[in-house]
Amino acid sequence: MRIILYTVGVLSLLIAILIFTHDGLRSAIYVYDEMRPFLTQYASPFCISRLKERGVQFTKVPNQRNGQCRIFNAVKVRNFGETSLKTPVIMTCGLALNLSEWIDDVNQLSLQHFGSAVEMISHAGAYNCRKQRSSRVMSEHGYANGIDVTGFIVGGSLYSVKDHWNGSRGKRFLRGVFSSACWKFGLALGPESDLRHQDHFHLDNGNYFGISKARCIFNKIWDK
Ligand SMILES: [Zn+2]
Repeated sequence: MRIILYTVGVLSLLIAILIFTHDGLRSAIYVYDEMRPFLTQYASPFCISRLKERGVQFTKVPNQRNGQCRIFNAVKVRNFGETSLKTPVIMTCGLALNLSEWIDDVNQLSLQHFGSAVEMISHAGAYNCRKQRSSRVMSEHGYANGIDVTGFIVGGSLYSVKDHWNGSRGKRFLRGVFSSACWKFGLALGPESDLRHQDHFHLDNGNYFGISKARCIFNKIWDK
């Protein structure tokens, strides 16, 4: 089913580019945005049971629609095991599963750098019904499929992207967790990406068909 939807979407885009009219492009973007909730990077049919197995504390959320924005296959997450979110967040099950795996890496790095796991993750939310700031395409936030992480509380201290990315304290930890996120998520944007991400990591579960991974290679080189 997914391959059929994907093929239809790609064909629609090609036709729009060939026609190259304003209406054609607009229609192609509309079709693409309609299909994206079904094309997420990480959408296992066993997602809910896998979240339970991994000790994620959550409640299921009914599907909702607001124009082209959707909350689809979503959960409201409070904790990833011992690591809690500052406030509970509604997000796609796939994003929650991806986050739970990433937080394993985050806690491993936290143990290495600070001797204890992350107690709390501060964030600026997930669902936000809007287009991307740099294009006419819907943001993954419009599908609750992206989250903005602002910092990590370890041993009672906050290590924030805004204050510690270039500081002496927490710099190596933050760069380590971002490097892990870059490979883990569909797309990870941070302070090295552009001016809009100086104070948070944008982590989403969109399907970029591997293209966004080129950034991870460059991040790795710049980080040395
Ligand atoms: Zn974001």
